[in-house]
Amino acid sequence: MTSETILWRATGGEPIGAAPLRGRVVVDLAVIGGGFTGCAAALEAARMGASVILLEAETIGHGGSGRNVGLVNAGLWLPPDEVIARLGEEAGARLVAELAAAPDRVFDLIAREGIDCEARRAGTLHLAHAPSGLRDLKGRLAQGRWRGAPLVLLDAAETERRTGTAAYQGALFDPRAGTIQPLGYVRGLARTAVRAGAALHEGTPVRALDRLAEAWSLTTPEGEVRARSVLVATNAYHLGPLAAVRPEFVTVSYGQVATDPLPQRMRSRLLPGGEGCWDTALVMSSFRMDADGRLILGAIGDFSGPGRAIHQDWAARKMAALFPDLAGMPFRYCWSGRIAMTSDHVPKILGFGPSALACFGYSGRGIGPGTVFGTEAARALLTGAADGLPLPMVTMHREKAAALRGTGVEAGACIAHLAGARQGSTGGR
Ligand SMILES: Cc1cc2nc3c(=O)[nH]c(=O)nc-3n(C[C@H](O)[C@H](O)[C@H](O)COP(=O)(O)OP(=O)(O)OC[C@H]3O[C@@H](n4cnc5c(N)ncnc54)[C@H](O)[C@@H]3O)c2cc1C
Repeated sequence: MTSETILWRATGGEPIGAAPLRGRVVVDLAVIGGGFTGCAAALEAARMGASVILLEAETIGHGGSGRNVGLVNAGLWLPPDEVIARLGEEAGARLVAELAAAPDRVFDLIAREGIDCEARRAGTLHLAHAPSGLRDLKGRLAQGRWRGAPLVLLDAAETERRTGTAAYQGALFDPRAGTIQPLGYVRGLARTAVRAGAALHEGTPVRALDRLAEAWSLTTPEGEVRARSVLVATNAYHLGPLAAVRPEFVTVSYGQVATDPLPQRMRSRLLPGGEGCWDTALVMSSFRMDADGRLILGAIGDFSGPGRAIHQDWAARKMAALFPDLAGMPFRYCWSGRIAMTSDHVPKILGFGPSALACFGYSGRGIGPGTVFGTEAARALLTGAADGLPLPMVTMHREKAAALRGTGVEAGACIAHLAGARQGSTGGR
C-alpha cells in the first residue's frame, strides 16, 4: 500500500466544510489550528460570550487530532513521579491531578454535547512486552495508586483473556480511560463551538502574525484578523514561519494500519471488553478495535514515508504473531501522523507576547491534555488570569538538534522493525 488512507476519514461522518476567511474581522480571541486544542479553546471562548475566530490551514482534524490512536488516557505518558521531578512538587502535582481527571472531562463533554465519535469508556491496557516492561508497570501501579488512581495490574493469563493474545507478560488496566473515533471527536468539538457562537474557517493558513500597538494582526491569503488575544494551537503541524512565535519540538512519526471489519467469531475473542492497548516496548506499538470491528495496529514509524515498506511488513508480521487467525489478512487503511515531543516529555505553554499563548509538545498524549489545555488557555487569555493554567507558562522553550533527533527516532524504528524481520519475530516482543 503506497498512498495514505486514513480510517478515521472513512468513518468520521460529514466533514465540516467551513469556508475560507475572506475580508477583515475584529475579535476578542483568534485561535490558529483546528485540532483538539484549538477547537476546545474556541468552544470555551464562545461559551464565555467572547467573539472568537478559529483559522485552520487545511481541514478540522487535519493534524494529530484526526490521525491518532484514539486512546483517551489519564495523565501524561510520563509516570506521575517523573512529572513532579521535572516540574517541582506544586506545579507537578497540579498537572498530574488535572490530567488524571482529563478522561472525565472528555467523556462528559462528549455526553453533554451528544458528540458522535464511537466513545467507549472500557479502560485501556498498558501491556508488558518483556520482564522489564512488567517492572515498569509495577512502578507505575505503585505511583498511580499512591495518588488514588484506580489502576489494576493483570497477570499474563488475565491479559490473554482480555486481549486474545498470549504475547504479553501482564498489563496495567486503567478503568478511567477509554477509546474514541478521534476525528469524530474533534469535528464534534468544532460543531459545538460553532453552535456556541465561534466563527470557524478552513483552508485558511495564517501566513503572518504580528503585534500591533494594541492588538494582534493575523494575515491569511484572503483575509485579516485583528484580535485582542491569540492562541497558537498548531502542535506538530505548525506551518510557519510566524515571526512572533516558533514552537520547538522533536517530530516523531507514528503509523497505523487497519483491517476490514473482522468476522463475528474473531471479534468475540479479540479485546471482547473493548479496551484500547499499547505496550512498554521502546519502539512502542498499539492496537484496538473500532466500532465496526476493524483491528487497528500502530507503532512508532512513518508508515507513509521512505521506510513504509519496512513498517508495513512489520505490521503484517506483528498482527500474525499476536493473532495467528488473522495472518495474511490485508490492511485496508494505512496512515501516519506527527507527534511533537519535548526533551522532558512535558507539554509547554509558551507566552510569546501580550495576551498570546502557544500550547504544544503533548509528546503523544493529546486527547485529554489538548482538551484541557485548550479550554484553560482560552479562559486565561480572556480573563487575563494565568493562575488557572494547568502548567506554569514559560517565555522560552528551545530544543537542541530537533531535526537530527527526529531522524534518529525514525531510523531506530526502521532498524527495530527490520531486526524483527531478520529474527523472524516482530522486534517489539
Ligand atoms: C499517530 C498518532 C497517534 C496518537 N495517539 C494518541 C492517543 O491514542 N491518545 C492521545 O491522547 N494522544 C495521541 N496522540 C497525540 C494527539 O493526537 C496530539 O497530541 C493532538 O492531536 C494535538 O492536538 P492539537 O490540537 O494541539 O494539534 P493538531 O491536531 O495537530 O492540530 C494542529 C492544526 O493546526 C493547523 N495549522 C498549523 N499551522 C497553521 C497555520 N499557520 N495556520 C492555520 N492552521 C495551522 C494544522 O493544519 C492542524 O490541523 C497521537 C498522535 C499521533 C500523531
